[in-house]
Amino acid sequence: MTRHAALRPTKPRIPSPKATLAAYGGRPVVDQRRLARWPAPSLDHISALIEAARSGRYHRVNHPIVSRLEDALGQWSGGLQVRAVGSGTAAIHIALDYVRERGPKILTPALNWPGALGPIHFAGLEPVFADVSLEDGCIDENDALARLEPEIGVLLLPHLFGNISEVPRLRQTARTLDIAIVDDCAQAIGAVRPQPGAARIDSDAFTLSGNGAKHLGAGELGFLCGTEPGLIEHVDRVSLSSSARDGGRIFSPMSYGLNYRPNVLSSAVALSRVPTLEEQLESRAENAAVLRIGLSGLPGLRILHRFMEARNSFLNFALLLEAGELGLPAVPATRDFIVDLLLQEGVPVWIWLRRPAWAYLPFWPDEAEQPPLPNTEKLLAALFDIVEIAPPNGVDVMRAYVAAFEKVWTALPELAPEIRKVAEGAGSLATGRG
Ligand SMILES: *Cc1c(COP(=O)(O)O)cnc(C)c1O
Repeated sequence: MTRHAALRPTKPRIPSPKATLAAYGGRPVVDQRRLARWPAPSLDHISALIEAARSGRYHRVNHPIVSRLEDALGQWSGGLQVRAVGSGTAAIHIALDYVRERGPKILTPALNWPGALGPIHFAGLEPVFADVSLEDGCIDENDALARLEPEIGVLLLPHLFGNISEVPRLRQTARTLDIAIVDDCAQAIGAVRPQPGAARIDSDAFTLSGNGAKHLGAGELGFLCGTEPGLIEHVDRVSLSSSARDGGRIFSPMSYGLNYRPNVLSSAVALSRVPTLEEQLESRAENAAVLRIGLSGLPGLRILHRFMEARNSFLNFALLLEAGELGLPAVPATRDFIVDLLLQEGVPVWIWLRRPAWAYLPFWPDEAEQPPLPNTEKLLAALFDIVEIAPPNGVDVMRAYVAAFEKVWTALPELAPEIRKVAEGAGSLATGRG
């Protein structure tokens, strides 16, 4: 101690890790001005929209813009036939309607984009829910195999977060039992393509979404892709009632009148994105790799992606909080607390689902009585995703996300008593929350 110490103004104390957090008055790590939110605007869209506006026609299925988009995606997919429809949900409905005669029940995982389950009801099918895998959040192959029963005629397999749900044994078994396979690729556009040097996934129908949050980021649009002529004919039969693909304006007596027509303006934007789709997927993969490397050193985080899968489309970067590893209660409130700290640091994280997908829809009230599936239950309590991993965000933005995680993780020991208190308080209320 020097004699002068007492004369100096009080030495600024090093703030505790907690006090540096944005949630406690510190400065957020991620500068929001550097962050682009998907779907990122582009001048290319304006030229695409001008072309649509010049045509003066916005809704015909045989609009040249729609036909070009179908061809471009068909080529991108490596040879599938493609039909544009009104939305990804519409595409699922048409696919399920096409295969519904195979059996009264459909097997699908309990975790999904809730809207994707509506078509099960519209197609008059009864769902059987399987558990999900803790590797990728998609269907758990062994659990699904164990749940197969003679009444199941269809498998609906969503590929979540960009992950590819290969499940080869499940697909082979479905083939031997004459069960139809529908792949919902809304979150994983790469699933429609063959893997470099390998075959395409064995499926009867691939569905895609062109909605704003997905890879084609185009508004309201969906696609059915397949090789079977019957499926493609079915799209036209089900979805058109006052126009034919050859340009005729007819009222087809066989139409179901669903009018799931593609939006020409959205199609124009989607078409303008196809040439850079490859680049977009590469950039997403590169960003995901930076996050994987940066976050792999933090305890209590499990990454829900398989990285050796070349087709992985990395829509969002999905994470599971292993609260127990951090000495914290493994309840949703712990995850919520940490997610809030990250949000305040400026990381675009969100909690996707809090309940099994069926619980968001009014069709299956009895499912609520059933015991949740163990992996699904674990994911619902602990899942969150980083949502902005698309270009133009690049490696520097990903590094900022990682720095924010590190900052929050450094403060966790200090925050543990507070988190436990919140988690225990929430625990006593949890049963009352819907
Ligand atoms: C977005 C999404 C859909 C539905 O797509 P829309 O075009 O919004 O109808 C279906 N399934 C999954 C898994 C999705 O993420």
